[in-house]
Amino acid sequence: MERVRFAPSPTGYLHIGGVRTALFNWLWARKRQSQGGGGFVLRIEDTDRERSTQASVDVILDSLRWLGLDWDEGPGVGGPSGPYTQMERLPIYKEYADLLIAKSKAYRCYCTKEELDAQRAALKARDPKAQFRYPGTCRGRTDAPALPHVVRLLVPETGSVRYVDKVFGEIVTPNAAQQDFVLLRSDGVPLYNFGAVVDDTSMGITLVARGRDHMVNTPPQIMIYEALDRPPPAFAHLPMMLAPNGEKLSKRHGAVSVTEYRDQGYSPRAVLNYLARFGWSHGDQEVFSLDELVAAFDWEHCNKSDGKFDAKKFLAINHEHLKTPRLTSDAEYAARTQPFVAARGLDVGVASIETVVPLIRERAVTFVDAADRLDFVFRDPPAIDAAAATKFLVPASAPLLRQLAAVLEPVEPWIAAPLEAAVNAWLPGTGLPMKDIAQPARVALTGRTASPGLFDVIAVLGRTRVLARLRAAADSIG
Ligand code: GLU
Ligand code: ZN
Repeated sequence: MERVRFAPSPTGYLHIGGVRTALFNWLWARKRQSQGGGGFVLRIEDTDRERSTQASVDVILDSLRWLGLDWDEGPGVGGPSGPYTQMERLPIYKEYADLLIAKSKAYRCYCTKEELDAQRAALKARDPKAQFRYPGTCRGRTDAPALPHVVRLLVPETGSVRYVDKVFGEIVTPNAAQQDFVLLRSDGVPLYNFGAVVDDTSMGITLVARGRDHMVNTPPQIMIYEALDRPPPAFAHLPMMLAPNGEKLSKRHGAVSVTEYRDQGYSPRAVLNYLARFGWSHGDQEVFSLDELVAAFDWEHCNKSDGKFDAKKFLAINHEHLKTPRLTSDAEYAARTQPFVAARGLDVGVASIETVVPLIRERAVTFVDAADRLDFVFRDPPAIDAAAATKFLVPASAPLLRQLAAVLEPVEPWIAAPLEAAVNAWLPGTGLPMKDIAQPARVALTGRTASPGLFDVIAVLGRTRVLARLRAAADSIG
């Protein structure tokens, strides 16, 4: 059984780069599950006590839930390898550290910060460019006084660490590149590498997929597995997400947190679609349902090179998902649009919105945009754009709007085709082109100069509201 994990540090919002990591792991777990066995574990790495917060844990869990990246084990779900939050696992790290000490693979180091600082300063005085490495002072110590100490790994001085990355291929790093690094701090809190290895091995993780920025951590982590006599998992490192200017993608470059995209009216599956295509490809296919992603995903088609975040393409993928009923059903569309309609002060149920989704599907690029485009359907009287009124609700329009109301009034049934036929029959007598009628009518009915097709609008609004709005606009002209 393939077991993968996502191990965020709860020090802020869930960054879309983090979602990409979560997604690739999740896709792999779901794909393996469909082939017989796969599990997706969520683990909270909260050992940075200064920066970790419960609020951040909540945002991360909410974001993953919104995205539909469900976890088989982890916070809120439980599982046989818990607890799934590192600060609740301190006894487990101690147990593993003691095991390594007993096997003489690690040792207690009693050097104080002052001693190490003095050694570092002395070295720098001799050679300002030298890189200080812990000199192994406590390597041979066998006593264990009850004094503050850290636990260090006894790193072999020769040999190398080799692994075959599923994306980057063979990686070889000489052991001499490492010092006897710290596993456990004097307060019993593990350093990242030790915590990650203890958790990954005790949780039965078989494949670790994470950002390329963690590649430097993989050789020391493999050393810990070797010291524990445990097989290391497979590794897959993913290229970085950069800003268009090549910098590391951050807030300064625009929206980077999942919740911002949710609040901007993105479809969660469009977010996943964009992130899947970021650093992975499947022929020239750009648009995927989630099932298609699960079926097609593999490590072989992941890129090695970093990519640049493209906000325009992201929006285009979102538009594609909103346009396509196969990817976003009318019911889902309405449910996701409803909160944005409510935010406009309109108390409208999902069922009412669902009936008018086809009106705006083609054009709306986000659910926020959809709510905006549907405003006229639910607001009575509609909000009339002042510039549109100045331009089209002019004295010459008043009699036309009244005549149009009279022409439409008797039409049966009240659907687009007969409504359009009635107007076409009347039009030649006016001597005017359609647009001279259509634009004032559009402003009267929707408050705007751009709207869905006029006869679709008339059909959807219904007889009563159409006649009222046309006559109210004519009256407002005076
Ligand atoms: N907590 C680490 C991070 O958020 C996890 C790294 C890993 O996947 O091993 O970057
Ligand atoms: Zn020491």
